[in-house]
Amino acid sequence: MIDLKNKVVIVTGGSRGIGKAICLVFAQLGAKVVFTYYRSKKEADKVKQEIKKMGGKCLSIQANVRDFEQCRAVVEKTLKKFKTLDILVNNAGIIRDKALFMMTIEDWKQVIETNLIGTFNMTRSAITTFLKQKRGCIVNISSVSGLVGTPRQTNYSASKAGIIGFSKALAKEVAPYNIRVNVICPGYIATDMVTSLREDIKNNILNSIPLKRLGTPQEVAWLCAFVSSDKANYITGEVIKIDGGLAI
Ligand code: NDP
Repeated sequence: MIDLKNKVVIVTGGSRGIGKAICLVFAQLGAKVVFTYYRSKKEADKVKQEIKKMGGKCLSIQANVRDFEQCRAVVEKTLKKFKTLDILVNNAGIIRDKALFMMTIEDWKQVIETNLIGTFNMTRSAITTFLKQKRGCIVNISSVSGLVGTPRQTNYSASKAGIIGFSKALAKEVAPYNIRVNVICPGYIATDMVTSLREDIKNNILNSIPLKRLGTPQEVAWLCAFVSSDKANYITGEVIKIDGGLAI
C-alpha cells in the first residue's frame, strides 16, 4: 500500500488535468494537499470540495508560477497552515505549439517562463525548508517531448529538457540532505492540453502510441504518488516515462 498519511504536499496547477488527479489521489492516500491554480477558480473550488468530501485537508491558492514572490508566498502560506512541507510537485505547464519560423519571442518566453522558470521559482522557494528539515521530495512533471523532441514544440521541448537537467543537477546537490528529486515524463494524456487538438492530429497521435490509447491523468497521479512515497526512498535523479510505449 502506498501511504501518504499526513504528508504535506504542494501541487502546482491543481485545478485541472494531471495536477487535479494528483491532488485527488494524494488526498485519497491521506496527504494534506495545498494546490495552486492560476485562472480556473471555479475548477479549483470543485477540487477543494471533492477533497473536503473525502474528509481530507486542503488549501487552494491562486498563484502565477512565473512570479517568484507569489511562489514564495505559496510556501509561506503552506508552512503557516500545516507547519511543515514534505513533497513538492511541479506540474503547472503550458504549450504554445508553432513551427519555429512562425514562433514569436512571446510564444518562446511564455512557455519557458511557465514551465522552466516556474519550476525554479517553486523549487527555490521550497528548498530552504527541505534543507532545514533534512528531508524532502520533489517531483517535476516534464514530458516525453523533453526527451525525444517534438516538431512544432521547440519552446516546449526546450523547457521540458531543461527541467530534466535541472532535476538531475539538483538531485546530486541535495542528496546529502535526504532530499530526493525525480522527473516524470508523460506521453499523451487525456487532458484539455491534448483533447483540444485537431481531430487529424489526435488520430496521428493514437497511431504513434504502441498501446493505442491516451494515458489517463489518474495513471500519472498514481506514479507520482509512488515516487513521492517512502516506498521510493532509494529513487532519486530518475527520469520515468509513462507513455504507452511512445518513446521506446
Ligand atoms: P492542463 O492544461 O490540463 O492544466 C494545466 C494546469 O497548469 C492548470 O491547472 C493551470 O491552471 C496550470 N497553469 C498554467 N499556467 C500557469 C501559471 N502561469 N501559473 C500557475 N499555474 C498555471 O495541462 P495537463 O494537465 O495536461 O498538464 C500538466 C503537466 O503535465 C504540464 O506540465 C504538462 O506540460 C505536462 N504534460 C502533459 C501531457 C499531456 O499529454 N497532457 C504530456 C506530457 C506532459 P489554471 O487552469 O488555473 O490557469
